[in-house]
Amino acid sequence: MNLRKNIGWWIVGLFFIVPYLNLFRLDIQGGHYYWMTKRLSFDQPLPLLLTILLLVFLVIGLSTFRARLFCSTLCPHNTVSKALRALEKRRLDKPVAVVLTPLIAFTLISYFDEPRLALHGILYGQSPMALAFFVVLCLFLGSLLWKLRSKFCQNVCPYGFLQHLFTPDNPTRVAKIGVATLLLLLAVAMTVAALSTSASEVSFKQVSRVETGSTITYVYNLGLTNNNATTAEHFTIKFAPDAPQPIGLDVHDAIEVGPGATKVVTFALRTARLVTVQFEVCTEHEGTCKPFNVTLSN
Ligand code: SF4
Repeated sequence: MNLRKNIGWWIVGLFFIVPYLNLFRLDIQGGHYYWMTKRLSFDQPLPLLLTILLLVFLVIGLSTFRARLFCSTLCPHNTVSKALRALEKRRLDKPVAVVLTPLIAFTLISYFDEPRLALHGILYGQSPMALAFFVVLCLFLGSLLWKLRSKFCQNVCPYGFLQHLFTPDNPTRVAKIGVATLLLLLAVAMTVAALSTSASEVSFKQVSRVETGSTITYVYNLGLTNNNATTAEHFTIKFAPDAPQPIGLDVHDAIEVGPGATKVVTFALRTARLVTVQFEVCTEHEGTCKPFNVTLSN
């Protein structure tokens, strides 16, 4: 087996394992995405945007090195179509296509939905949307694997159509070095952005204000979310000593939040004068701190 074939099958293998291992997938319903098992909110979009940008530039930029390099080496459709063609003589291509069709359709859905929920939704009809996508994808992929195969490249695939736009006639060495540098820079920027993006979220919200004589009690909810999919996080809350201290919150104990979980803690602050309370919420595992300032008045 030559190197090109090997790479093709590696890409096919990655296609099947990436969403199930949370290496990269969107959880549209949950408002999150996963990057190398790290769960990040859509409010932290930089790693996601850089990943999409890198993939787009990779697909387009590879043509600078050799015409149809992406199609011949990386495209999973091409790898699978060639394998099915090789199975035609033994009349195994159609049975294999029948098995592969729902597997590929479900894996594609798993890039955009939590796989267990999607499976449940499809099997028990609890998610009409997932079921509809699954049926449409099965019909599309079924025709692709059963019949169209390489005809899809010539007649349907937009990348196949637009190849000539991306492929310069005579790419110079400078152009190739420029594209390779751009891809490398994007890969580095994406990795740095993903690693430096916090996997924890802290939300702070006032829920009530109760007046008793000259004092006022403010009640707050502090939402602590651990987006790390594999490790528990410990949050500590430190209040500045020269201001009102929280009521109903033990600041000496760290608050443990399990992988992918959210905990809401409620506490109160009481004051009889205008005062600013400063506190910070720190994470033990990640080593980050988020400061908060609250102004209380009577
Ligand atoms: S034309 Fe499209 S489907 Fe065909 S090998 Fe290229 S990228 Fe893949």
